[in-house]
Amino acid sequence: MPDENREFYDWEQDKIREWFEEMYSDKVCPVCGGSGWEMYSRMPLLEFKWVTPLFPVHCKNCGYTRFHNAMIATRGEIKIPRDGGTS
Ligand SMILES: [Zn+2]
Repeated sequence: MPDENREFYDWEQDKIREWFEEMYSDKVCPVCGGSGWEMYSRMPLLEFKWVTPLFPVHCKNCGYTRFHNAMIATRGEIKIPRDGGTS
């Protein structure tokens, strides 16, 4: 049975972190104009049934938070239905 309130698996977190470091190196916050973005070191997985696995990215200055679709960010390496703890 899947854990409804779990984190991304380690290999998924690695993929997402890789994407984040590339994608957010030069992004400016639309609310405060800051440029310091971060992710939690352990990423919570927000999974909506039949829809999509999301992960949050937030501005360190004002807390503005965005959610990204993990399937798209990893170009399909993270899939639905989810396929367990190994890649
Ligand atoms: Zn901000």
